[in-house]
Amino acid sequence: MRNPLCFFASRFPGEGPAFLARHRACCLRCQAAAARERSLRRALPGLADEVLVAPPGLQSGVLCRLGEQDAADPRRPLVVRAAARYAAAAGLVLATGLAFAAGLARRQSRALG
Ligand SMILES: [Zn+2]
Repeated sequence: MRNPLCFFASRFPGEGPAFLARHRACCLRCQAAAARERSLRRALPGLADEVLVAPPGLQSGVLCRLGEQDAADPRRPLVVRAAARYAAAAGLVLATGLAFAAGLARRQSRALG
């Protein structure tokens, strides 16, 4: 089982609290993890000019797996999905209300005129 101090040392990078710094100084596992991280950080700038070309057919394969998209598209924010879902019903209610108000206005104008 993993040492809880190793877990906390990995979650709080840098110096952190003194007890974690003391643990890092004497724990071989944490020192190895820190060495791996330093090695990755040194290698990352060298990858800046590296351009990977997607294999042919990847885009169409992904789009085929997504299937039909609609208002329930999980990539949209929740508010947008709810608005899209109820937009048709809200439009119908609004149109009915406007027609009703127009009818009332016409009736009043006939009664007055
Ligand atoms: Zn450790």
